[in-house]
Amino acid sequence: MRLRNIRGAQEKILENPYTIQTDGLNGDDYKGLWQDKIFGNHNPVHIEIGMGKGQFITQLALEHPGINYIGIEKYSSVLVRALEKRETLETDNLIFMRMDAEDLTSYFAPGEVDRIYLNFSDPWPKDRHAKRRLTSTNFLERYDKVLSPDGYIQFKTDNRPLFDFSLEQLDEAGWIKDEVNFDLHKDGPAPNNIMTEYEMKFYQMGNPICRLVAHR
Ligand code: SAM
Repeated sequence: MRLRNIRGAQEKILENPYTIQTDGLNGDDYKGLWQDKIFGNHNPVHIEIGMGKGQFITQLALEHPGINYIGIEKYSSVLVRALEKRETLETDNLIFMRMDAEDLTSYFAPGEVDRIYLNFSDPWPKDRHAKRRLTSTNFLERYDKVLSPDGYIQFKTDNRPLFDFSLEQLDEAGWIKDEVNFDLHKDGPAPNNIMTEYEMKFYQMGNPICRLVAHR
């Protein structure tokens, strides 16, 4: 994603009631408290890591009012775009966090998350950056900690080398694959699928979109 520095993005996030800015916090105000304290219910918690402008998770939240959604994004300048849409919606089941996925276990207690979505994650093509890929064993370890016993991850990408790498990493970490699809929209837009911004773009360019679902 091309990043532009958006003036006042951080301030906008701090002032916004639907977002959590993690700078300077250690996570204790949130860890283990998402359902009871933050959302005020006992509904399942689903998160998207690297949500970008938030099209996917916002649509999910509108379609599933009985699920608590948290969109996580590393950069304020991107997150602020998701906020603009969020402010126009009445729904109370969607919160955004400005956070690096590295810090996931500081903000979520063991078993607190029921589903993790990873959409068009940055590929980090150089071998020496492989640990930064959100489907590396480095991150699978974190997902293992925060996911509930029945929890799972869903990953979509048009980047075939990243997809193949992800399949290998799942094997290495002992995860079980429930779905592996190398061309999700082979017969036209797949049913029961919400397209992300990147997915829409790459689908229109004719790139095959890969999707996997896995649990441990
Ligand atoms: N998911 C969106 C989509 O499919 O349209 C955006 C995809 S964009 C290529 C990847 C996003 O992940 C960027 O907004 C980037 O800032 C975010 N990101 C990358 N590494 C991250 C990390 N470690 N923690 C949180 N977000 C991250």
